[in-house]
Amino acid sequence: MNSAMRISYPSRGAVLGRAETEAVAEVIEGGGALTQGIWRDRFEEQFREYVGTRYATSVTSGTVALETALRLLELRPGDEVIVTPQTFQATVQPLLDLGVDVVFCDVEPDTLNLDPDALAGLISDRTAAVLLVHYGGLPARMSEITALARRHGALVVEDCAHALGARHQGRRPGSLADIGCFSFHGSKGITTLGEGGMVTFDRPEWAERLERVRSNDTDYEFLPYAGPDNAPSLLPWMRYADEVYRRTCTRVRRAGTNATMSEAAAAVGVVQLGRMAAATLRRRAVAERLDAVVGEFAGTRTHRAAAGDEHACHLYTFFLDDAARRESLIRGLDEAGVEVQLRYFPLHLVPEWRARGNGRGACPVAERSWFEAQVNLPCHPGLTDDDVDYLARTLRSCLARALAD
Ligand SMILES: *Cc1c(COP(=O)(O)O)cnc(C)c1O
Repeated sequence: MNSAMRISYPSRGAVLGRAETEAVAEVIEGGGALTQGIWRDRFEEQFREYVGTRYATSVTSGTVALETALRLLELRPGDEVIVTPQTFQATVQPLLDLGVDVVFCDVEPDTLNLDPDALAGLISDRTAAVLLVHYGGLPARMSEITALARRHGALVVEDCAHALGARHQGRRPGSLADIGCFSFHGSKGITTLGEGGMVTFDRPEWAERLERVRSNDTDYEFLPYAGPDNAPSLLPWMRYADEVYRRTCTRVRRAGTNATMSEAAAAVGVVQLGRMAAATLRRRAVAERLDAVVGEFAGTRTHRAAAGDEHACHLYTFFLDDAARRESLIRGLDEAGVEVQLRYFPLHLVPEWRARGNGRGACPVAERSWFEAQVNLPCHPGLTDDDVDYLARTLRSCLARALAD
């Protein structure tokens, strides 16, 4: 957050209050478990009911959710993974470690979501997975994308870090493909005390694997022990050793880790989930107000959900298709105390991906948008009515000035 600004991006994206404080007090004063207890179970149960998947497994961040999702895909070196360049680096960065071929697929100019037509030109039977984001909370065209992926045997991961509260063709993001990944970072729509994440999916075998991965176990396959049975006779309290001993490990996929969400965080998550619908409506009201201002000016485009879909309005985005005028608009807004952060710099142009053969021209729509057309403004439930009035008024006068000849 830039404190010199009158209207800035929030250090907190969520609304927190007395109920969250009380939830933490209940965990502390209740004397029960501080980890792996009832609050995590409750949060996960409510989350999977909300999203509409069979499973919701909590972890310690959105980044860890994406990392653990990638483990479930069992990618092998040389596999191809198709990704969107228009997202936060955490969607794509875990792939750096896996030795896979990452191919950036261009986005649609009006949504900044992965373009199914561009995907059709890239996907092949070499493609193991597609990673996409619902940019800013606007749902991607999932039916086309998942149909293409199915045809080529590829799995699809939805990064839903912006999309809690959105809806697509009657369903929630996180249930629209194979795996959904959510972030409860402090900047997101709901937060579990600053950090947290969730993985959503339907496959029971993944639930078992994720449970091990996040609990300091190994991601393995095993059979009952087939060797000579020379296990010592054990007392009942030593049965665990007996059970472990009588297994044969056939394959260790990877080591596990500890990604357990604490009880205090999960208890806050339960309260936050209850606040989410109202907070999303507030975001939408701010976005509609700004859309109305943008709509007064020719040469602009708004960032709208398809008919029947719902935008979570995590980011407020519009487009002014004239690089020089956009530049002048952003300068005007900045001088008037409205913070403008362009989200996100096209990832295929950052050094680590340029070093892997990517460059200018690979995703022309994403590049044109960031370098020439898109504008992102603050849009969050922490803005007061006065703030929104100021934002709308300032946007109107700055647009008028930028568009005057
Ligand atoms: C915030 C964010 C993440 C990472 O989530 P953390 O909880 O901060 O690790 C991943 N993808 C997108 C699109 C995000 O906005």
